[in-house]
Amino acid sequence: MSNCAIVGVNWGDEGKGRMVDLLTESYDVVVRFQGGGNAGHTVENEMGKFALHLLPSGIFRSGVMNILGNGVALDPENLMTEIEDVRSKGVSITPDNLMISDRASLLLPWHRDLDELEEMRLADKKYGSTKQGIAPFYSDKYQKKTVMAGELFYPEKLRSHLKDIMEWKNLTLEKVYGHEPYTMEQLEKWLGEACEKIKPFVSDSGEYLKAASKSGKKILFEAQLGSLRDLDYGIYPYTTSSNTMAAYAPVGSGLPSAKIEDVIGVCKAYSTCVGEGPFVCEMFGDEAEELRKAGNEYGAKTGRPRRVGPIDLVASRYGVEVQAATEVALTKLDVLSGMEEIPVCARYKVNGEETDRFPFPLALEDAEPVIEYVKGWKEDISGIREFSELPEAAQQYVKMIEAAIECPITYVSVGPERDSIIRK
Ligand code: GDP
Repeated sequence: MSNCAIVGVNWGDEGKGRMVDLLTESYDVVVRFQGGGNAGHTVENEMGKFALHLLPSGIFRSGVMNILGNGVALDPENLMTEIEDVRSKGVSITPDNLMISDRASLLLPWHRDLDELEEMRLADKKYGSTKQGIAPFYSDKYQKKTVMAGELFYPEKLRSHLKDIMEWKNLTLEKVYGHEPYTMEQLEKWLGEACEKIKPFVSDSGEYLKAASKSGKKILFEAQLGSLRDLDYGIYPYTTSSNTMAAYAPVGSGLPSAKIEDVIGVCKAYSTCVGEGPFVCEMFGDEAEELRKAGNEYGAKTGRPRRVGPIDLVASRYGVEVQAATEVALTKLDVLSGMEEIPVCARYKVNGEETDRFPFPLALEDAEPVIEYVKGWKEDISGIREFSELPEAAQQYVKMIEAAIECPITYVSVGPERDSIIRK
């Protein structure tokens, strides 16, 4: 297989980063095609433990080219902080292993302010933004009110373009939110510092991808978040502002001609969700707290406790379907060890009727979970590497999910480390 996308089937935080880190062994290029630094991929390997936000997870493998495609929200300041942090742990990051598409739009300094100001205005109606400026960034991108990374090579034109955008944006900042206006001096500082530092990485990465594809190089497309956060197919408006779908990978990566032969949907053995929005299978109380602790379910970017629940077969089947996953990696099975019985959200009840179809976002608010229990296992499974050596109940649990989501489960992870994986 030459092209593969690794995408989330649930609400994000499924463990995509660890799957990319594992599989980059057999790939030449890793491309992030959407999203920004608003979520985190945690990767543990022989170099240490890393919380990546924007950097592609292939950054640890020598010989792999990592690309930030045109679909990402490129925040020069956050990216440089992340690069410096990862470098400080001994990882080399140079233009030889990281490229930024010249067509990637830049997240501008006011985007983070606007996120914060709008969440404050919304008060108890807030969306649970991570306040990284992602929603204001994407709305401005589609209004054509931001600049592309490649404009850094045209300093005069860039300054004039930025000045026009700043004047327009100051109207909103001052008149709508009563915020201080931005000045060109502030933008000069931003240009002279973070933007100057990212400039050496900026190039026509689309050309690079085209040539790589022509010469038979293997390309891995890495997504952020999951199906249920997709702008068009997720739980709108509690979605992110970009498309988290494998189908968007060719567009957002810079290789619109790409055919993605293999889509690995990453699905967690139970459910977690960060932020607001309907989460039908949510568990509360001690049961939830135990699962949260066992799975260490605290946001990689914000440290916020994640909402937790049993595996949601309705949402996961939908998630697999919209990703057009050809195979599934089931992660964190080890977290469920020690439970007498494991709850499973088998169906939803909507208006008194049971359904296994994922409802329209507004109808989700009235959906209730139909919980069934399956047999658990007591053994520690983190050292197991063969599917047949898993306790019978664990094997049955995986097979039950596989039948429900209608897609083969080809990987089962049993620990956060690179090699804690069962290839089924
Ligand atoms: P991503 O954004 O999809 O890459 O997911 P996150 O990094 O937010 O969350 C996955 C978390 O689970 C990370 O802390 C991983 O180290 C951890 N993890 C991944 N796979 C496993 C596993 O099989 N078992 C356990 N216990 N932890 C895992």
